Amino acid sequence: MSHVLVIGAGGVGSVAVHKMAMLGERFSKITLASRRLSSCEAIQKAVAQRLGREIDIAQVDADDVAQTTALIEKTQPDLVVNLALPYQDLAIMDACLATGVHYLDTANYEPRDEAKFEYHWQWAYQERFAEKGLMALLGSGFDPGVTNVFTAYIQKHLVSDMKTLDILDCNGGDHGQAFATNFNPEINIREITAPARHWAKGAWVETPALSHKQAYAFPEVGERNMYLMYHEELESLSKHYPELERARFWMTFGDAYLTHLEVLQNVGMTAIEPVLYEGKEIVPLQFLKAVLPDPGDLGKTTSGKTCIGNVVSGQQAGVERTVYLYNNCDHEACFAEVGSQAVSYTTGVPAMIGAALMLDGTWMQPGVFNLEQLDPDPFMAMLNQHGLRWQYVELDAPLSF
Ligand code: NDP
Repeated sequence: MSHVLVIGAGGVGSVAVHKMAMLGERFSKITLASRRLSSCEAIQKAVAQRLGREIDIAQVDADDVAQTTALIEKTQPDLVVNLALPYQDLAIMDACLATGVHYLDTANYEPRDEAKFEYHWQWAYQERFAEKGLMALLGSGFDPGVTNVFTAYIQKHLVSDMKTLDILDCNGGDHGQAFATNFNPEINIREITAPARHWAKGAWVETPALSHKQAYAFPEVGERNMYLMYHEELESLSKHYPELERARFWMTFGDAYLTHLEVLQNVGMTAIEPVLYEGKEIVPLQFLKAVLPDPGDLGKTTSGKTCIGNVVSGQQAGVERTVYLYNNCDHEACFAEVGSQAVSYTTGVPAMIGAALMLDGTWMQPGVFNLEQLDPDPFMAMLNQHGLRWQYVELDAPLSF
């Protein structure tokens, strides 16, 4: 018997709640809370129609620690799954500490006024969670999340002496819109327009955003252009695997997407500093989010597949080896199953799996953890069982770029 409180009724929250509702023996009670009750009602209705399962809903502003604390005290969950925005991470962690409840999220904390996502704010909670016998699992989505578990699995079973890591994130899907982001536009655009950073020989190397392009032929997708970026799992992976000589993250973008983004940047629409408009302060990027398609609505028109995985080179038993471990996920299959496109699906499923492994005790231990610090095997087994099948291939040589 376990009760989970999910905060954030967006694209990822919808998938996670659907997948939890399919596992009644693990998630015997589900409460979904969000800033707007209407967002929760829509998911509550969809879960009842699709799966015949009732969930509880509640309204909460998770920026307000007192409100979240009161909600946790009232609903008495065993675990809070934070699928709201990265801005709420610390406030929800504070509410978990105040009430003695375990915590999980899918994205690291980011201050609203600075596009800077780093783990140090959340790692600083280590002692407080450990002292209270509570666990906080950070970044249990796909990237971060599955890519961290893939790294741990490769190190454990395939390339014990890892030298280089490349995480390749390809969305080969087409949503039929001129310009849309596949998850929260504000968070997505802040991430993409930030300078690229990769880990090389013990230091960060910074390059201008989207300045390093590379074509790559992705399994089941075909050739796409990918761009070097900074992504948050590089921070924890370079810390937990100091033997890595290089760690990079790449993401694919189509030419039309980048042209739109360039224009929006040039006209100032991606800025996060407030501007005065008719006597009222507005943040251009937040206004842009309001006029862009809702990522939650893209599912019905999206076709194609994602392909996200890790290429690792190094040695296994003294022999040079390069492996590529990846997952393909089909947008239309996700929509048929839970009414969402694959980007929300590939994040919501790992959130459910992380929660399940905490609640059944497999991963539960006091302190603040990134996923690579825990045994990858049970997580990898659940990926195969719950819609994110993975496979690996041997590459003839390390990546040539
Ligand atoms: P959405 O914008 O679709 O959903 C976020 C939800 O959070 C919204 O429904 C919104 O509520 C709710 N919310 C926002 N602010 C508050 C608040 N103050 N209090 C309570 N609820 C709030 O985003 P996604 O579902 O696409 O993304 C969710 C999270 O997943 C983000 O943190 C994102 O960064 C992360 N993510 C992680 C990935 C990974 O692979 N690790 C990949 C993709 C996303 P309402 O509708 O009620 O207004």
